[in-house]
Amino acid sequence: MSLISVGTMAFDAIETPFGKVDRIIGGSATYVAYAASNFIKPVQQISIVGNDFPQDEMDALINRGVELDGVEVVPDKKSFFWSGKYHIDMNTRDTLITDLNVLADFNPIVPESYQGAEFLMLGNLMPSLQLSVIKQLQKRPKLIVMDTMNFWMDIAMDDLKTVLKEVDVLLVNDGEARQLSEEVSLVKAARKILTMGPKFLIIKKGEHGALLFHENHVFFAPALPLEEVFDPTGAGDTFAGGFMGHLAKTKDISFENMKTAIIVGSALASFCVEKFGTERLREITQEDVNARLNEFVQLVNFDINLV
Ligand code: AMP
Repeated sequence: MSLISVGTMAFDAIETPFGKVDRIIGGSATYVAYAASNFIKPVQQISIVGNDFPQDEMDALINRGVELDGVEVVPDKKSFFWSGKYHIDMNTRDTLITDLNVLADFNPIVPESYQGAEFLMLGNLMPSLQLSVIKQLQKRPKLIVMDTMNFWMDIAMDDLKTVLKEVDVLLVNDGEARQLSEEVSLVKAARKILTMGPKFLIIKKGEHGALLFHENHVFFAPALPLEEVFDPTGAGDTFAGGFMGHLAKTKDISFENMKTAIIVGSALASFCVEKFGTERLREITQEDVNARLNEFVQLVNFDINLV
């Protein structure tokens, strides 16, 4: 049983009301790998980096059971670089810089050893590259989950809609759901997006939790009310990694199990925001994850007597 994770491995510069970092490790696939590896090994990574990406960062991932055979290292170019600044409420951010660098001519190759994977996590990346990975798989995975963002909707909407037709689950935030569907109401947006390809849709609402839509059903997972949110970068990818990790571990892709999976995703994301970058995700143990999941159970558990 394995999980392929495709996405960026990057350097990020982040400014939040609590501090500023100039160059830390980030990238959609990095966060997915840190989160999913709590549940499933191996995580088979597909990405690209430049000559500046530190070997000890690669080793840290390998030590967690992440395979890097599908990570191309380009000797004479720089890694993808992203810079963002958060507003005071931390729910909104401005992208200041997106330097594609190595990503500009990335042509992902699925290694032979990854063939047969049952779960595919298409992390945030150019839609054409997400599609290329799907097309290279000799056997369709049991579940294909896709994450994306407004950046790709702005510059590659047609490609994005083509990939959508091939995936089972789409993960977007509320603004992106509105942009994709051209609907203001999230319920109407969900109905429309569910006609575009995916059978399941997850709409992330930052500190206001996440909604899971399937046919006429909807389920809500809250975000844990935290005293301090230090840096939300990567929370969406971490959510995706936790969600996918749980599904791959349990091998159950029913709507009922996806409900649990979005709680698991929310629990992992709640760790991610506690420190800058991937720092907190590197520290947590299985016990920490279980304790946090228990907090979620307490958060949403209530009794009612209906007459
Ligand atoms: P999130 O906060 O979950 O949206 O993820 C932030 C991470 O995504 C950062 O570590 C960035 O390096 C990475 N990222 C930012 N913009 C893009 C993009 N256009 N494509 C792929 N990854 C990106």
